[in-house]
Amino acid sequence: MPELPEVEAAVRELRRWTKQRRIVALEPLHRAQARTLGAAVQRRIVGRHITGVTRRGKHQLIHLDDGATLLVHFRLDGEWARAAANAAAPRHARVAFELDDGKALYLTDPRALCTITWHAASAPPTLALGPEPEDPALTPQMLREWLRNKRGPIKPVLLDQRLLAGVGNIYAQEACWHAQINPKTIASRLSLARVERLLAGLRTALADGHVNAGRYRTGVRTIPFKVYDRTGEPCARCETPIKRITQAGRGTWYCRGCQK
Ligand SMILES: [Zn+2]
Repeated sequence: MPELPEVEAAVRELRRWTKQRRIVALEPLHRAQARTLGAAVQRRIVGRHITGVTRRGKHQLIHLDDGATLLVHFRLDGEWARAAANAAAPRHARVAFELDDGKALYLTDPRALCTITWHAASAPPTLALGPEPEDPALTPQMLREWLRNKRGPIKPVLLDQRLLAGVGNIYAQEACWHAQINPKTIASRLSLARVERLLAGLRTALADGHVNAGRYRTGVRTIPFKVYDRTGEPCARCETPIKRITQAGRGTWYCRGCQK
């Protein structure tokens, strides 16, 4: 699943591709996306200028000049692709936008699980999301306060999008490694000092992700993770072999030597 740095990279690219562009045609190419982009919705979108592209958590928001919003989520395998408008659509294209610069923009997804919905200016999308982890207004004190009622282990708790927006499986465990916190530690028991380290660790891990923002695929390392998918490899800090456990049905890698 794309993580926050990958979605941020996609948003930046989309922003560049759509700057001051007008949508001249729109066509859903798969029945899943045709359900949310019906003929009436298409008529509301075609002809509009794109005024900006923003991100909230792992959601992408395309803002139109009538105040409406297109809300996009990649889910597991979504991606943007661009081609000349008269060229063939790329493989797995699910939605095609034609822009007034002669280019076509495609939302592609081999599994067609990506979502795109239109929201009128009068009913903007409501996203039940916590603050962005990189928002400087977010303090360790605030995070500690929210974790006070969480009785579960910290790593799965970090995946709750209502707590922090956009933190996924990879960055939650990378943050625990940076903070030297065992991912099994009960969230409510973390002291303020440890929450401070955790937030700093999250920001360090995400900053590393932004620098190397390529799509992570198992077996293809474009991002130098500290623990994720490194079973048996020596810890970069203490050389203890990295261990894999399962938490809430998902893999967690950590170092038994230095994550206490
Ligand atoms: Zn270690």
